[in-house]
Amino acid sequence: MTLRLFNTLSGQLDEVLPADGVALRMYACGPTVYDYGHIGNFRTFLQVDMLRRALRLFGVPVRHVMNITDVDDKIIRNAAASGVSIADYTPRFEQAFLDDLKSLGVEMPEVLSRATEHIPQMVRLVERLAEAGAAYMAEDGNWYFRLKAFPEYGKLSKKDLEGISDGARVDVDEYERDSARDFALWKATKPGETGWETAIGRGRPGWHLECSAMAMEYLGESFDLHAGGEDLMFPHHENEIAQSESATGKLFARHWFHVRFLLVNGRKMSKSEGNFFTLRDLLLKGYKASAIRLALISVPYRHQLNFTFDGLVEATSAIDRLRTFATRLRAANLETGATVAGSAAASRAHEEFLAALANDLNTAEARAAIFELVREGNIALDAGLLRAEDRDAMLRALATFDSVFAVLTDNDAAPTRAAIEWASENGKLDQVAPELLAAQSLTDAEIDARIEERNLARRQRNFRRADQIRDELAALGILIEDGRDGVRWKHK
Ligand code: AMP
Ligand code: ZN
Repeated sequence: MTLRLFNTLSGQLDEVLPADGVALRMYACGPTVYDYGHIGNFRTFLQVDMLRRALRLFGVPVRHVMNITDVDDKIIRNAAASGVSIADYTPRFEQAFLDDLKSLGVEMPEVLSRATEHIPQMVRLVERLAEAGAAYMAEDGNWYFRLKAFPEYGKLSKKDLEGISDGARVDVDEYERDSARDFALWKATKPGETGWETAIGRGRPGWHLECSAMAMEYLGESFDLHAGGEDLMFPHHENEIAQSESATGKLFARHWFHVRFLLVNGRKMSKSEGNFFTLRDLLLKGYKASAIRLALISVPYRHQLNFTFDGLVEATSAIDRLRTFATRLRAANLETGATVAGSAAASRAHEEFLAALANDLNTAEARAAIFELVREGNIALDAGLLRAEDRDAMLRALATFDSVFAVLTDNDAAPTRAAIEWASENGKLDQVAPELLAAQSLTDAEIDARIEERNLARRQRNFRRADQIRDELAALGILIEDGRDGVRWKHK
């Protein structure tokens, strides 16, 4: 079976196969590491994870590259506000992002590449564009891409960009959405500002340039598939195509995979609407990583997912049902042999699962096929009709399902524990659901650290916070006694 996916560039479902017959070369736009990732980001990274797992299931090896944008306007602004360099600012958020991917069961790409470690490749690309007449330096020292030099501009987003204005320019990161203007490749910076001394002047790369240079560095000038959220289609991906193809004269990526944005409670996610959630927010509310994963992947990538807490509760019970069924199957004492009905149920589920994934990664139908097997299998178990070979076939179907969905094995304790530790280290224990706290047992050193945090709060006359910490410790069965010679604690 071959995987077929909707290709934004061709506008149709195309087979996804490696051009070199060896491995599918794919590039996925990664995060800008200026803050913690939110569930919209993770929906996109999870769908890319589903894609790479599905490709492997269909026998296609993958070479997957993801960039880390560790220099841009927001990073520079946030780092300056914290009084540190960008090199000191970004590692914490990069690590948090990688930890979050791990919590969600996302496989690591074969190559992870940081923008700041590929400046020479970016400079070289600007030089090649200048040689081809597609880039120029403006009086402000910035380098721009000359849109007129690429008549195919707009071929990905199918935008009618009639009004391409020659010489009208748009800044590097904070671009205008619907304008077709010469876009910045490289931004000149003054000494003291973040920048690199290079052959094209002192400055820093634009975001579009970064992805073109790194994709070509690791995948070659022409490769199989490029992925990202739908917001990136224009102008980011359109600009990547313009830069890369103007420099090489070759088709940049053959297939473009775009993940639809998610809504939260029916609306666009935003901090001001109060419907903005990071992964950590949800873990601290007591939702399990596996349920968050299942909720974010069950709606196919081209469909709008409306994320709700009811959806998370549903995902939690779906996973329970699945795990209980697997446990029941393994534990059942069955007669040898097979039944017609049992074997047919297993092979039908298996085939429907594969067919659904092959058809544009239809995760909803793939999931439904396996849950139908759970229903039928449970009925057969209840009736004492299942035989050992039926069971083996059903377990094989579950294993195939889980090679892509990755929710069957219970790995939920570690992400939750890590989130609580993070909350504790960052003074956010008040955001932890009480039942989660109650379920954790602390080491002595952790208890001492909480008490130190409470002492500090008291010194700062933040008695509300101090009381909170005392109450949280009490919820864990730890009593604090304020004595003349300091604070002591004991187990209740
Ligand atoms: P950023 O770090 O903002 O560059 O985003 C990283 C990835 O997350 C990109 O592929 C975005 O398209 C994607 N993304 C951002 N917001 C959402 C959302 N609400 N739904 C789905 N994907 C998103
Ligand atoms: Zn990109």
